[in-house]
Amino acid sequence: MAPFIPEEKIAEIKDACNIVDVVGETVLLKKAGKNYLGLCPFHAEKTPSFTVSPDKQMFYCFGCGEGGNVFSFLMKQQGTSFPETVKLLAERTGVALPEQRQTPEQKRRLSEREAILDLNDLTVGLYQKTLQRDPRGQAARDYLSKRGFRPEVIEAYRIGFAPAGWDNLARYFERRGVPLDVAYKAGLVAPRRQGQGYYDRFRERIIFPIANHRGKVIAFGGRVLDDALPKYLNSPETEVYRKSHSLYGLDIAQAHCRAAELVYIVEGYFDAIALYQNGIRNAVGTLGTALTNHHVRMLRGYIGQTGRAILVFDSDDAGIKAAHRSIEIFAREFVDARILVLPPGHDPDTFMTKFGPEAFIEKAQKAKGIMPFLIDAAIERHGTSMEGRIKTLGDVAEPMAAFEDPVARSVYIKYLSERVDIDEAAILEKIRQMAPISASGSPQGQSGRPGAIPTMPPKISGGSRLERQLVAMMLQYPDILPEIRKQNVVALINDPALRMIGQEILGERDPGSQHNEYSKEVSPDDVRSIKANLSVQDENWEYNGCLGLIKQFIASKSHHAKDDLEEQIRQAENDNDFNRVAQLLREKNDRAVKYDKLKMEIQKRSN
Ligand SMILES: [Zn+2]
Repeated sequence: MAPFIPEEKIAEIKDACNIVDVVGETVLLKKAGKNYLGLCPFHAEKTPSFTVSPDKQMFYCFGCGEGGNVFSFLMKQQGTSFPETVKLLAERTGVALPEQRQTPEQKRRLSEREAILDLNDLTVGLYQKTLQRDPRGQAARDYLSKRGFRPEVIEAYRIGFAPAGWDNLARYFERRGVPLDVAYKAGLVAPRRQGQGYYDRFRERIIFPIANHRGKVIAFGGRVLDDALPKYLNSPETEVYRKSHSLYGLDIAQAHCRAAELVYIVEGYFDAIALYQNGIRNAVGTLGTALTNHHVRMLRGYIGQTGRAILVFDSDDAGIKAAHRSIEIFAREFVDARILVLPPGHDPDTFMTKFGPEAFIEKAQKAKGIMPFLIDAAIERHGTSMEGRIKTLGDVAEPMAAFEDPVARSVYIKYLSERVDIDEAAILEKIRQMAPISASGSPQGQSGRPGAIPTMPPKISGGSRLERQLVAMMLQYPDILPEIRKQNVVALINDPALRMIGQEILGERDPGSQHNEYSKEVSPDDVRSIKANLSVQDENWEYNGCLGLIKQFIASKSHHAKDDLEEQIRQAENDNDFNRVAQLLREKNDRAVKYDKLKMEIQKRSN
């Protein structure tokens, strides 16, 4: 504990605030017996395991093990230091802290964050005043009124104006004795390229302050009045502003998101404000970045477990792009997300001006989930020819693989199967390929997905994934067949149907010949349909990758064989059959030698 805050002050603050209220500001809590329960802000989860106890004034998450008191909660959630957190809570509870003796570093960090927030506050006031009363703000006033911004909305969002000129703000700070290096750290001014001093970052722009959930201004966005470029300019990241953690309008929207268990996520400042003006107050804007898991988790804290996020776009292309980028995050955080694309030529503002907010809400209620949206968009783009359907499958297999929830995934597979008339088994197989096998043989996500696809819907074709992959490779990449023959790989395939297909490919069996060997286990129809499924998967085979797959396959077989042998050895030992034990041990050794040789051979060729 930091030495400069007396123990009794800490206790006093703890007594004065209720952890349920503090946590409840950002996490939707529901009463459950003596405690409160919500979705954990520190890990992704579908059912609440985050518990807050008002009696003990503690929180604990049964999912990730995170726990502590009100201080540790805020420190963990906001990334603040202990002294900062104490100060924050002292202010909220009205507990007066004594003059503090701090280390210079503590002082610097604490005062830097505070100084930036204070400066932002000062700046908002100045920009607002300029917009509302200054003659230099006339053009901006005209612009905003032409775009239909009502005064109370301008007030609510604290919109302002930075007039033309290089150093209005810098000189304003100087007059007030504000050190300009702090203004620089706040991202409000930048050092001149030549000579000394600083110039204003925002010049002749309408200013949209960006606040955190408590309403503290952490950054600014500025828009030009004409067609000059860049159209939008934002604050750089600072000690208090991280893009990936911030959403425009969150301070205004949070209570409404909570009440509606719904959040609209729009693209920009104007969109968020347009929704607000039309009475839809649960809207936040992304700040020119893709949605991050921080954003989604933050919003989930307001909309709760059964809540919904609707992403609003003004074009199909933007919607598709964002859907691809964010589907994994929503899937991982278990948030029900929908995509609403407005008709061509419309943004939320023009749409509601023309059709009214009711039409917007109605459209939102009918918005498709991300996955159906992507499927429909791919079909629209590629058509329903055979090639088109295969392309569609190629487009949507990866996003579909993002769903680890087997129920969600099987629902989407069914939907896609019906839409493109491709067998569910083939779709599933394609999705499984999206989680390529790593060297250790465990599935691994392509884009760092944590341990993708642990649970699978019921097996449709027999054999292990590796076996199916092997046969798919044989079907699609004949270059590898000599190697397959040489290593006698097909004989190692366990699944009778897959082994049969393998033999057919190698010409060791006539296609359609009598399947007398396996006739009880496999029907010719099964073989045909499995073969068809394995043939549709398009994977970019290349020689070394194929050798790797063969190696992995042999290794897995040798593993199984080893386990099997070891079991037999144990059995023989139990039976006191020492001749058998000796024979089995020899066999084990022979296999190990043979396998090592094989491994080396393949290794040599792939180098
Ligand atoms: Zn947790």
